[in-house]
Amino acid sequence: MLPDSSTELSLLEDADARARRWLAGVGGRPVFPGPEAIAAVQGLDEPLTSRGYPENETLTALDDIGGAAVVGSNGPRYHGFVVGSTLPIAAAADRLVSVWDQCASSHLNSPTAHALEKQAGRWVLEALGLPEGSAVGFTTSATAGTISAIATARRSLLAAHGWDTDTKGVRDAPPVRVVVSDLAHVTVLKALRVLGFGLDDVLRVPTEEGRMRAAALPVLDDLTILVLQAGEVNTGEFDPFSEIIPVAKKAGAWVHIDGAFGLWVRASRRHAYLAHDVEFADSWTTDAHKWLNTPYDGAMLIVRDARLLAQTLNADSVYAMAEADAQKNLTLEFSRRARGVPVWAALRTLGYEGVEALVDNTIALAGRLADGLASNGYTILNHVRLNQVLVRAGAPDLTRAVLDAAQSGGATWFGSSAWQGEPVLRLSISSWRTTQAHIDELVVLLAGYLRDATNDVQ
Ligand SMILES: *Cc1c(COP(=O)(O)O)cnc(C)c1O
Repeated sequence: MLPDSSTELSLLEDADARARRWLAGVGGRPVFPGPEAIAAVQGLDEPLTSRGYPENETLTALDDIGGAAVVGSNGPRYHGFVVGSTLPIAAAADRLVSVWDQCASSHLNSPTAHALEKQAGRWVLEALGLPEGSAVGFTTSATAGTISAIATARRSLLAAHGWDTDTKGVRDAPPVRVVVSDLAHVTVLKALRVLGFGLDDVLRVPTEEGRMRAAALPVLDDLTILVLQAGEVNTGEFDPFSEIIPVAKKAGAWVHIDGAFGLWVRASRRHAYLAHDVEFADSWTTDAHKWLNTPYDGAMLIVRDARLLAQTLNADSVYAMAEADAQKNLTLEFSRRARGVPVWAALRTLGYEGVEALVDNTIALAGRLADGLASNGYTILNHVRLNQVLVRAGAPDLTRAVLDAAQSGGATWFGSSAWQGEPVLRLSISSWRTTQAHIDELVVLLAGYLRDATNDVQ
């Protein structure tokens, strides 16, 4: 049914009331939905009707059936992947962005989005200590940012060799080589495939304890794209930027940094040393929707030479313009949501010290979790310097049993990974909501799961 504008406000009020009820229970509800809730949402199999439903009925169905099967990633006890929750101010700003419904492509379409995203971009550079004047594109994800970064890198390396990819494409171009860590994130490999790089042609450098081995780096040249990591997903490790970046830059290579979550360590005076010298790269991707705790669809691509990104992603009707401060020229989208606004709101509200506290607290809690697990029979496999804890419970069977208990118990949720050929548990402390008390409860819970698993095996 077509909407009736007289019900718009009451519908939003109803949605808000439901949101408030949902949030009030965020700490207490099962972190992963139970089988009945999942069956109910999967069982939704209605025909598309000809007359539709009343709006309030649709909202009720969404909340009752959809809301019941929601994963508790916005809560304090979810430790999967490197997922963060949402800061209240970022969620509140996102609400306004939704009702404003701006097409945030350029100043012409939305002066508000344009000004706030420009400001947010400057703050991101300041918080992360990256070069002033770099372009900041607010992307849907680090994945989209990496695709754009690699495209920019290839276009500009080839341009320096007199090859214009805009007109001649890449089929007959001089070959561009890509060098990545053997622990490069799967989305970096996806970006390369999407852009037509064959994985056989991607050189993978061996790692040690999660870090690229500088001594194993191949000879680089000015047709090489080197992708390094700030925050490897299992270990939270950083590639040795101080050793590698100067060598790569001297050779004329393009250096891109995948810093989806780990780049935010730069906001901490105590821990920034982990990503020392990362500012000498050419481009960086990072997420706001992970460690900065903003809603999803919040990520950034940062490119030192703003013009290169704008020319690569140029969507101005006059080709020569490629205006470097219009988001339509800095991201893959033309029409786009003002997704930089929740980032603006988060940074404005937190300030330097708030971002630092978010980073420092979660790192401290990860250390506390690692100590607690180590004193309860678990083996910690990484140096817990960041917010990631990689754990084994003994033999692979025990690790799997603990994983099953944790994933089905509803009191926490985290995932697993394969580390040196063995199943391991991977826990991330990424939410502003997680406190010391939650970590202490988690240690007791996991100690119990390990005891039960050990008794079952015997
Ligand atoms: C999450 C992640 C990505 C991908 O980020 P999206 O925003 O999910 O596309 C890339 N690299 C690393 C290290 C990540 O943790």
